[in-house]
Amino acid sequence: MRKVVKFGGSSLASAEQFNKVGNIIHADAERKFVVPSAPGKRDADDTKVTDMLYTCYDLAEAGKDFGGQLKAIRARYQEIIDGLALQLSLDDEFKTIEKNFKEKAGRDYAASRGEYLNGIIMAAYLGFEFVDAAQVIRFGENGEFDAETTNKLMRERLTSMEAAVIPGFYGAKEDGTVRTFSRGGSDITGSIVARAIKADVYENWTDVSGFLVADPRIIYKPETISTITYKELRELAYMGASVLHEDAIFPVRREGIPINIRNTNAPEDEGTWIVESTCQKPKYVITGIAGKKGFCAVNIEKDSMNSEVGFGRKVLQVFEDSGISFEHVPSGIDTMTIFVHQDEFMHKEQKVVSGIHRLADPDTIEIEADLALIAVVGRGMKSTRGTAGRIFSALAHSNVNVKMIDQGSSELNIIIGVANADFETAIKAIYDIFVLCQL
Ligand code: ASP
Repeated sequence: MRKVVKFGGSSLASAEQFNKVGNIIHADAERKFVVPSAPGKRDADDTKVTDMLYTCYDLAEAGKDFGGQLKAIRARYQEIIDGLALQLSLDDEFKTIEKNFKEKAGRDYAASRGEYLNGIIMAAYLGFEFVDAAQVIRFGENGEFDAETTNKLMRERLTSMEAAVIPGFYGAKEDGTVRTFSRGGSDITGSIVARAIKADVYENWTDVSGFLVADPRIIYKPETISTITYKELRELAYMGASVLHEDAIFPVRREGIPINIRNTNAPEDEGTWIVESTCQKPKYVITGIAGKKGFCAVNIEKDSMNSEVGFGRKVLQVFEDSGISFEHVPSGIDTMTIFVHQDEFMHKEQKVVSGIHRLADPDTIEIEADLALIAVVGRGMKSTRGTAGRIFSALAHSNVNVKMIDQGSSELNIIIGVANADFETAIKAIYDIFVLCQL
């Protein structure tokens, strides 16, 4: 068995956290490939090293003095090195970083140093080999991630290795220019490493004991999901549930490698398993609930819309031409509604309205703002009758007016549109009926 273990920023924020990580790695001889993030927050008021690096580089780029900020970053690492009693000096590394900042090496380069330096410390601490991600993770000319070249380079480099530390979050173009993934991207690096070495498991260690059935800011102590499929996770992540970077499932998915989300501060917890498919029945009919506020509905009416071939295409053309992506398009005989993100749509609304009039000649267009979308996701819904019925009667009992319903053809999710003001009440009602009433 070979396991790739990725540790998030809060798991590596201090020497104390590093020690927990060390214990986790040493507790299992199969944990040989380690992907660290940059040091995160030590407490709620702290600043992540990645954010400190961005600030520092912005000063450098503006030609201002960045010495004080760089010193503060250095102090974060020195505190870890001293706390672990390591014989390691980052003098040369910081000299290079200072020089490159002066030469304006770029924001991506700056941010990547957070993971790079933490990787050097981690390798020294564990006695593992350090592999610079710039040499094995490749971005194309236009900055897009090149999955196949990366897989080849990573595989060639790691196959002969017994154990290695590969810093997360960044890679480089062929000419050596450093590029990063979007924020939280070390999750993607872990997945890339797991794919390359054909790992049996990709363990993603963070500060929660897995994926929760609902947002803990809305539901008090929600249940943890024990097993979730890639597809379910994607639906929930898209609607705002965040534990893992959205793109982190793609590399492992190609090899059918499961991801196990674990808690560095509670290593005995089983966490959540993210798998391609499973015959394990979910504990509840639904696997999870997630949602987002801030949508607009553009309601379009036209008599006999149903018999006008091409009407929908013309309407959607206007959204495409305005560079607005739509979320859902429920329709009736004479009506069609387009759900869009309010902040994206707001500045272009009049252009869109006149565009629709010009191209599709509807009778009326009405815009409804401040709506929320809620996704109720679960592979168990397919085989259970009455799921939709239970959702809507729970919402009715909680006095929530449903504005839109959309069930995907996969029967994996039901999307519900409600007013922003009803968002939390709706989530509570759905959680209660499926989870609390089942306990
Ligand atoms: N350190 C980076 C961030 O704060 C990447 C990561 O932690 O995954 O976003």
